[in-house]
Amino acid sequence: MIIVLFGAPGVGKGTQAALLAERKHIPHLSTGDALRRAIASQSELGIVAKKIVESGKLVSDEIVTGIVKEALSKPEFANGCILDGFPRNQSQAEALDVILQETQKEIYRVININVENEEIVNRMLKRGRKDDAEDVIRHRLEIYNNQTAPLLNYYTNSGKLTTIDGNADVEEVYERIDDIL
Ligand code: ADP
Repeated sequence: MIIVLFGAPGVGKGTQAALLAERKHIPHLSTGDALRRAIASQSELGIVAKKIVESGKLVSDEIVTGIVKEALSKPEFANGCILDGFPRNQSQAEALDVILQETQKEIYRVININVENEEIVNRMLKRGRKDDAEDVIRHRLEIYNNQTAPLLNYYTNSGKLTTIDGNADVEEVYERIDDIL
């Protein structure tokens, strides 16, 4: 069972995914976390990804699709996972469909967490990650609007999408997600 957490950067996908992992024992697969680990370890992949991530651009589809494909073939993900930060564009969504077919998995729900842009910028400035400078945040939001948000149609058409209001405290948002599951 695959649950996709969807939404702009800063809406709280990572926080909610961590809670779901802890309370429901569904493993968490975050392409952003995987990239940050690669960057910290200065692996070949990390060296390529560093500048791209820090400038707020998207890492190549080939790299992130490779990360997801490799992870989903591991035994710890045999029963599914929470996908966070992937897919982020149409080609990644199509690649995911292929990977799921190959690994005999299925998307159970796509949960879109909705928060307005100004609130997102405030939250991210507080977080203070290296890619959380205001100009980089604005750039990431623009990429989200242009490339990622159109996927909402893709998942609406498959009948798997549910949108929730993410303007609430962490526990309240968690309950809204739990209600859907
Ligand atoms: P946020 O949700 O706050 O944007 P993430 O941790 O999901 O944070 O992503 C951080 C950065 O990692 C992105 O801005 C991008 O550079 C890279 N990244 C993560 N997932 C993907 C993806 N699916 N495709 C391309 N780049 C990605």
